[in-house]
Amino acid sequence: MSENLEAYYGLPQEVQFCKRCVISNQRPASAVELKHKKDSKKTTMNLDEEGVCDACRVAENKEQIDWKDREEKLLQLLDKYRSNDGSYDCLVPGSGGKDSAYQAHVLKYKYGMNPLTITWPPILYTDYGYKNWKNWIDSGFDNISFNRNGKVMKLLTRLSIENLFHPFQTFMLGQKNLAPKLAAKYGISLIFYGENEAEYGNPIADTSTSLRDKSFYSYKHLDDVFLAGLSLRELREKYNIDYKDVTSFLPPTEQELAGSDIQVHYLGYYLKWTPQEVYYYAVENTGFKARPFRTQGTYSKYNSIDDKIDDLHYYTTFIKFGLGRATYDASQEIRNNHITREEGVALVNRFDGEFPDRYFEEIMDYIELDSEKFHQLADEFRSPHLWAKNASGEWKLRHNVAGSGLED
Ligand SMILES: [Zn+2]
Repeated sequence: MSENLEAYYGLPQEVQFCKRCVISNQRPASAVELKHKKDSKKTTMNLDEEGVCDACRVAENKEQIDWKDREEKLLQLLDKYRSNDGSYDCLVPGSGGKDSAYQAHVLKYKYGMNPLTITWPPILYTDYGYKNWKNWIDSGFDNISFNRNGKVMKLLTRLSIENLFHPFQTFMLGQKNLAPKLAAKYGISLIFYGENEAEYGNPIADTSTSLRDKSFYSYKHLDDVFLAGLSLRELREKYNIDYKDVTSFLPPTEQELAGSDIQVHYLGYYLKWTPQEVYYYAVENTGFKARPFRTQGTYSKYNSIDDKIDDLHYYTTFIKFGLGRATYDASQEIRNNHITREEGVALVNRFDGEFPDRYFEEIMDYIELDSEKFHQLADEFRSPHLWAKNASGEWKLRHNVAGSGLED
């Protein structure tokens, strides 16, 4: 019985799936990566007494939002900051994927802003990701791409797999931290991200404001900082990595931000954000192209296709939380009424947890991790309350959304 089995990462002992979408209560909220240690406990998706998850409730509440009023509020905000001397008046971080392409384009060509776009490039660009980035810039934007120390990036990526089974941490750090830092340097006050993470299951209170909490992009003391699950002291003593080698992965300090009036907003708070519509907009206006083939582990062709490591990232969420990329994609499409729950369950059943072998060996070579070691680590990170071996010795989920798990 699973109630006696250990649950890693502070995950709820009993697996429950949302009655509307296909996500489960095992889904962690996004964490402050700089505090992420081996023994960190996760905050997970809340399911209410009717068995419906917070993300589905957010989607439901979205139907009630007065979008005209929200756009008015956006216009007021933009009017306050719009520059008339040619200087940049807002900053849009992104890769040139559909979301950042859409954000930058509407801000500049619909609302008359002058955005500076910035890019923390993928760990390993896919050809499609690189072309989409190029097309984005060619559709009319200034861009700063910040290429960090590759040696440190590789090491930290390998260590974050070894310590946290989290291959995407180094990328996520830059994605969150680079924007406020460059904004402070360039004297830009407004930063626009796309969607609030609450749409995918962070605590619901997050959606009541357009502003991102400061704890996501600042820190007080270096002693509080962990990279790849290691303290800066451990990195120095064991790996000969100095503070100066990792500053590009860190946010600006509170002191650095103190002199500036930086506000981080979600454009998705002001404008109705439907991934499919955003995709069509980007195709039409910024030359965005989907990949001609399906992403491994899911059925979609246009979500997060820039980084070869992205596919591996979702494989690790499948191992750690029992939730692969098809679960994330299908849940979001169910909430947007593009597919039914039944269709979602079938898609999860078919694609979730598929091993992403397309780029796997190339990634392992790049970060200098033995591929056998990766598979060993995968087994170490499988939480006993989620996984067991079947009669033929293969790992199977004890519970899955189709109700066909080993113990369902
Ligand atoms: Zn749900």
